[in-house]
Amino acid sequence: MAIRIPRDQVIYSFSKRHSARYTAVPGDSVIFETVDALGGQIVNESTTLDKIDWSRVNPATGPLYVEGARPGDTLVVEIEDIKVSDRAVILVAPGFGALPDKDFRPSVKILRVVGEKLIFGNLEIKVRPMVGVLGVAPEEGEIPTGTSGYHGGNMDVALLTIGSRVYLPVFTDGALLALGDIHVVQADGEICVAAAEASGEVRVKVGLVKGKRPRYPVIESEDKYSIVAFGKDLDEAAYRASEEAVYTLMRAQGLSFEESYMLASLVVDLRINQVVDPVKGVRAEIPKKYVKLEHLLHHLT
Ligand code: CA
Ligand code: CA
Repeated sequence: MAIRIPRDQVIYSFSKRHSARYTAVPGDSVIFETVDALGGQIVNESTTLDKIDWSRVNPATGPLYVEGARPGDTLVVEIEDIKVSDRAVILVAPGFGALPDKDFRPSVKILRVVGEKLIFGNLEIKVRPMVGVLGVAPEEGEIPTGTSGYHGGNMDVALLTIGSRVYLPVFTDGALLALGDIHVVQADGEICVAAAEASGEVRVKVGLVKGKRPRYPVIESEDKYSIVAFGKDLDEAAYRASEEAVYTLMRAQGLSFEESYMLASLVVDLRINQVVDPVKGVRAEIPKKYVKLEHLLHHLT
């Protein structure tokens, strides 16, 4: 039977300082019950944002201690299933999102999920459940669950969906995995600052690669590896994603820098994860034809 972490076991930062009440061994499946990114505080469309307790926003369920995980290893998190509630919340507020200078009314919408469709007015949008926040304790300090970094965190990558696998660098014994912020569906960019925010359950299978780790979180999908980089702005995030992709292709293909730089231009897609969180996210997608997992993992020097 899978280990189950209830939704009242939440953290609001990623840190080595949190103690884990739940433990798994590699190969275990673990169910994380999650509350939505607003902490379940939006009760209806007249809930105004000034009524929200912002200290309860972006909860991540966990942390989970993974036996045998040591600094320098890779934690492997395979998303086996995501169950979402039949109700989602989306909101807009002046000062937030990709258009923070616009003048408009703060608004909340409650959306229904019917089978495979999210109902938005008279439109039906295909459901594609994903996990917004997924991370481990960082190398140092305490990083709020609303932001992202080398440890993962609030990556808001639409690719983080059922069947994908995430590789995260381990910085502390047990890794201390936590996750939350399920979206019923989110497009690249997450333009308005929120997606279809829902509570639910995420079942993951945990694993380890010993003795090496990725520089940035890496997501494996059916046909590609995606390097999830971040930065103070999109330029910095794109630089980091490109740099890691070019050096990965060099190792994988035995190319010079010049050739690898050229090849990256031909086969690596840079895509925006989100433009609305405290640090921005860009990913470099490399088709599996050109790299293997081992080329994305580094030994500590
Ligand atoms: Ca998010
Ligand atoms: Ca969210």
